[in-house]
Amino acid sequence: MTSHSPPRQRKVVLLGSTGSIGASALKVAQDIPERMKIVGLAANRSVDALESQLATTGVQHAAMWDAKAATSLRDRVSPDIHVDSGEEGLVRLATLDEADMVLIAIIGIAGLKPTLAAIEAGKDIAIASKEILVMAGEIVMAAAARKGVKVLPIDSEHNAIYQCLENAPADGHTISRLILTASGGPFRTLPADQLSNVTLEQALKHPTWDMGTKITIDSATLFNKGLEMIEARWLFQTPMQQVDVIVHPQSIVHSMVEFVDGSILAQLSHSNMCFPIQYAVTWPDRVANTLEPLDFSKLAKLNFEAPRVDDFPALRLARQAGEQGGTLPSVLNAANEVAVEAFTQRHISFPQIWQIVEDTMQAHELVAQPVLESVLTADQWARDHAASLIS
Ligand code: MG
Repeated sequence: MTSHSPPRQRKVVLLGSTGSIGASALKVAQDIPERMKIVGLAANRSVDALESQLATTGVQHAAMWDAKAATSLRDRVSPDIHVDSGEEGLVRLATLDEADMVLIAIIGIAGLKPTLAAIEAGKDIAIASKEILVMAGEIVMAAAARKGVKVLPIDSEHNAIYQCLENAPADGHTISRLILTASGGPFRTLPADQLSNVTLEQALKHPTWDMGTKITIDSATLFNKGLEMIEARWLFQTPMQQVDVIVHPQSIVHSMVEFVDGSILAQLSHSNMCFPIQYAVTWPDRVANTLEPLDFSKLAKLNFEAPRVDDFPALRLARQAGEQGGTLPSVLNAANEVAVEAFTQRHISFPQIWQIVEDTMQAHELVAQPVLESVLTADQWARDHAASLIS
């Protein structure tokens, strides 16, 4: 884009507006209104929160996953506001005529069908829900390539890599490694023999990022980073053996790209999801905002250390799932969701999360070239299998 072109205002449908990514996306839209306009909002069942977002943004199109919640929202808002419901409602919102981008921040796989529908409708995708790329990365990226739409990552690590690559293909000719940074979570330095005693409250104390429960537990087990390894593999079409992880407790370097000539590019900023959200929305432009840049003179230090793969098996399991591919990443993801839920209900210990995922992966009969239905079938099989291991 030349400096003479008018700035391009993205018209964005936000799926998952009442979660923490959704809140950050609304902040970005407020900060750079000439570049980002929200035209649709969807949430699971938080009626109060969505009602208040509709009132403050003036958005006319809404959807709720939960049908009862949608009915109750419809009763409360002006009849001018269209409130849709269910998966079909989310699909209709994701294909809204006036939208040119859909930002997917729904936890889990509920966003998968709306994502595919948005791609088919020619919308660019800004994707924060890592499960979609973990489970169906090959399917989603192939659909996006066929329709010529962009898939812009909002996960901070992948957004950092996207910035470092400047959209160059990470196909192995110029890239030698993608290096994902990991905070290491609250148990980074905890001796291995004490991991079985950690409590839910300890696991929920993330050192650098303020996020939802599921992702915070995933950060403590390192399954979050494992899911991100698989996500990177599909987003950037990079072989799994070129995806690496380094622990960086300060979460200032959000990830790096190592090129074949030995140079490494990194992206740095404060830990604030507004940075990656804005880049996804304004790409390929850089736009001034009110976010506070880093002050290097105030950074005490930036540390890096190798991850404890033997004590935190999530990275090994994710590498295996990413290398074997097929339905195995879906199985890892689903078993982990069930195990994390059981841990938050205090039914299992912290290390049992890894064990349940590993046992479920071992019991799975891999489908090598899955279509969407096989992915969803594997997901359900893994949920049932993991649940049977817990009870
Ligand atoms: Mg991340």
